[in-house]
Amino acid sequence: MHDPAYIGLVERICEGLPEYFVAELPTGDAIVGHDSFQIALLAAGAAVDAARRARADRPMFALVRPPGHHAEPARGMGFCVLNNVAVAANAARLNAGATLIVDFDYHHGNGTQAWVQRALDDGAPLGFISTHAYPAYPGTGAFSESRVSDNGFIIDVPLDLTTNTHDFIGVWSMLLPPLAAKLKPKTIVVSTGFDFLEGDPIAGLPVHVEAVDALCGLLGEAAAEHDAGLAFVLEGGYSLPNLRASGRALARSFGADENRVHVPTAHVPHDPRLKRIIETVLHGE
Ligand SMILES: [Zn+2]
Repeated sequence: MHDPAYIGLVERICEGLPEYFVAELPTGDAIVGHDSFQIALLAAGAAVDAARRARADRPMFALVRPPGHHAEPARGMGFCVLNNVAVAANAARLNAGATLIVDFDYHHGNGTQAWVQRALDDGAPLGFISTHAYPAYPGTGAFSESRVSDNGFIIDVPLDLTTNTHDFIGVWSMLLPPLAAKLKPKTIVVSTGFDFLEGDPIAGLPVHVEAVDALCGLLGEAAAEHDAGLAFVLEGGYSLPNLRASGRALARSFGADENRVHVPTAHVPHDPRLKRIIETVLHGE
């Protein structure tokens, strides 16, 4: 997924740094230290492994940092060095076929989208659905960047700072089931960013943690429906109480002893702008 020259550049920069020194990658705003390349490899490898194990067994959650979804094929940025989710999706697609990437992090997964854009037309079906605040870092993710082809899709749903729990769940409840049915994924890889939740110190929408239960319900149902492996990979999320509550919600939904997935009823958001986006995605203009 990444260009070999970029991987070589990251390796050289990190390994050239003395211990305890840091530097910014020349490609963007990502600070690295002496061990960052090795740690980024472990994070991407854990995401690949989570997707593989999820197909063979049960939903998995790769608790990794650094996050990945801003890293483009030849450009690390936004705390991201390697794009864990895109690397995992690429491997899953080669090994098992149709692959769906779901990204609900507060920020747009520009790096993942750049790879999907490049990979969409060759190979097994591939889809990317993202909700994110807009405008916000990194500046991409307008609805006009969405694209549908015979082999898959990119669907960008920009939210604004008024998007609340009802509308957030509404968007996913209206879009995820039909788009998953269209793609019939064998693997679903989730850019699991919890910085969309209320109270995040650097991001956050007025969305309550019950949205995490709803997302787990919808994703669990889509995975069961299509017999797909479901792999969550941590992205952003900078409030420790929110990370704790979200991690618990996820573990509760897919816990070993009981399956408590709660699927929300599909409902249209109140926000007329989001209603129009859903209408356009589902029925064309
Ligand atoms: Zn984020």
